[in-house]
This record gives sequence, C-alpha cells and structure tokens, in this order.
Amino acid sequence: MSKWEENVRKVIPYTPGEQPAEKNVIKLNTNENPYPPSPMVSVSDIEIEELRKYPDPAASVLVRAIADYHNVKAENIFVGVGSDDVIAMAFMTFFNSEKPILFPDITYSFYPVWAEMLGIPYETKPLDEAFRIIVEDYKTPNGGIIFPNPNAPTGVLLAADDVEAIVKANPDSVVIIDEAYIDFGGESVLPLIDRYDNLLVIRTFSKSRSMAGMRIGYAAGCKKLISYMNDVKYSYNSYTMNVPSIIWGTKSIKDDEYFRDITGRIIKTREWFREELISFGFTVLPSAANFLFAAHEEIPAERIMELAKDSGIYFRHFGGERIGNYLRITIGTDEDMHKVADFLRHILMRSK
Ligand code: PMP
Repeated sequence: MSKWEENVRKVIPYTPGEQPAEKNVIKLNTNENPYPPSPMVSVSDIEIEELRKYPDPAASVLVRAIADYHNVKAENIFVGVGSDDVIAMAFMTFFNSEKPILFPDITYSFYPVWAEMLGIPYETKPLDEAFRIIVEDYKTPNGGIIFPNPNAPTGVLLAADDVEAIVKANPDSVVIIDEAYIDFGGESVLPLIDRYDNLLVIRTFSKSRSMAGMRIGYAAGCKKLISYMNDVKYSYNSYTMNVPSIIWGTKSIKDDEYFRDITGRIIKTREWFREELISFGFTVLPSAANFLFAAHEEIPAERIMELAKDSGIYFRHFGGERIGNYLRITIGTDEDMHKVADFLRHILMRSK
C-alpha cells in the first residue's frame, strides 16, 4: 500500500442499477418512468448562449414553481441534484447526534452508505412479517429518522397517520420522509410541514416526472430546516442545479395534466401486472410505487434474472436474508409489460 493511501477515506459505495448500452431492451431495473417527460419540456427552451454563465445558485424559478405546486412558500423548498443529493445534504445537516439514526432493515440501500461515509451512528429496525414498518420501533431515543414512503425496494406504503405518529413522537429529532415514489398511489405528508418543524419531506423528478436524466430533487420543510440545509449547501457547492435542469424542471412541474395521466397509467398497469404475477405463482407485495417486489415459489430469483437478461429484459435483484428470492420489477408501458408477462409465462411452462 502506498503511504498516501493511509489518508484515503475508504468507503464501500452504493451500487446503482445497471444501465445497459443496448437500446433494444426492456429496462425494468432502475425504476425509471417508461413515458417521456412532459411535452412542455422542449429543447427550444434552452438558449445555448445562456450556458456561458453560472446558473442562479438559488434556482429561484424552479423553487418558486415547486412551492406554487405544493401551495407553500419558496422558503419551504430546497432543491438539489436528484433526491440523492438532497438526502446526502440532509444527512450532513441534521444527523449530527451521538445517538443513532433509525431506518428499516430493508430499505433504500444508500442510507447506510451515507451514514458510514459521514460517520453517523445508525440502527436498523426490522420490518414486520408483511414487510411493514412498525411505528412503535421509532419511538425510542434517536439522532434522527429516515425512511422512504412507500418503502423501497418493497413498495409497501405506511399510512399517512402512522407517518405523522412517528413525526409527532420525535420532536427532538429531524424525521425525513423520502417520498420518491409517493405519486404512484400514496398519501403525502408534505402538507404537514406547517404543523411539525422536525418534518422534512424529500421528492424527486426522476420517477413520476420522467426526468431521471436531469437530476432534480427537492426537500420541503419549515423555513428553519430549509435555511439550515442551504447553509450546508453553500458551504459545499453553490451551483448544484444546472441551467437546463432549472428551466425544464420548471416546465415539467407546471404540467399537472400530463403528470396525472402518466402516473395514472402506471398505476393501472401495475395493478394488472400484479394479478398476472400472482397467477404465475409469485408472491407479490402490495405496492404503492412504480415497481413490484415479487418472489416465485419455485424458481430462484437469480435464475429468472439470468433468463430475463438473455431475452433483453432487465430486473433488479438485491441479496439479503429475507429478500434474497425477490425481484424488483419496474412498471413499464402496457406493451412492454405484456411482453414481460409472455416471457414469464413461457419460462414457467418450460420449467414444469
Ligand atoms: N430514494 C429512493 C427510495 C430511491 O429509490 C431513489 C432512486 N434510486 C432515490 C431516493 C434517488 O433518486 P434520485 O436521486 O434520482 O432523485
């Protein structure tokens, strides 16, 4: 080992889902939206000359549009480079206690990575036998709480009343609700930011707004929370949001009709496909997200993954004790999901 390596910050990074180079695949491994961004988002919105200058560090136009959409003030919104950036910023800002932060044992696998990198102590709380969050587990002393709602990679939703009970029981720590997938059928707790100064709700344009490639995420919270996050952001990198993201994000959030249309379509496809999977002998968790989490009773998940990949279909598989046999399947277009159903029917028949 070279001497300089002694001073390297050694971390085990998060592994994002594969982005295959081939175009002609059915890509259901990273929860992207199969539909294009709003037709209001257009290349002609960007003046190339504008790229010469730094962007507005406060991304004011985008912040204003998000605030209007949620009926809150601009001072209640913080934007960042995808919700991953916003969550990382929130970890840095709010999780500085000696007490452990809490999150579920089965959840977004980036949380322990940030905690490890930033030296934040953490404790995981097991989900119950139906993969649900147990509210009582989050009423113990802690340095902060974070979980996605609906949870990932399960898709299981916690009712808004239960989320509120957790926020209410923890006035001394910041509770972060990662609502990356809330637009696919869950009830948001964002309207509660007026009532609880310890509640931070995080959202993304990557899923329900079909803009994963633009990297736009945001947090909503009371003025004080947002102002603390901005202090950390401006101590780190002032210009997080680039010009196209600011312009196109603003266009996208103003097009509510299109947003409702595509999220509605995905929900409909999800419910149909869930029934299909059940009829094929899969155990499928109830999902309020744009994906399903399913395990086959006879064929191991890894085998299905392999066969699917050979046919140009990509699913996501996470190892782990309770979820080792589960596949996470993003909901694509109706047409793609029919092809996937045909593929699964075919391999299951062959294995009989
Ligand atoms: N939270 C959860 C639960 C996720 O699954 C993801 C997607 N990997 C993110 C946050 C981050 O999404 P993005 O950075 O694209 O907004």
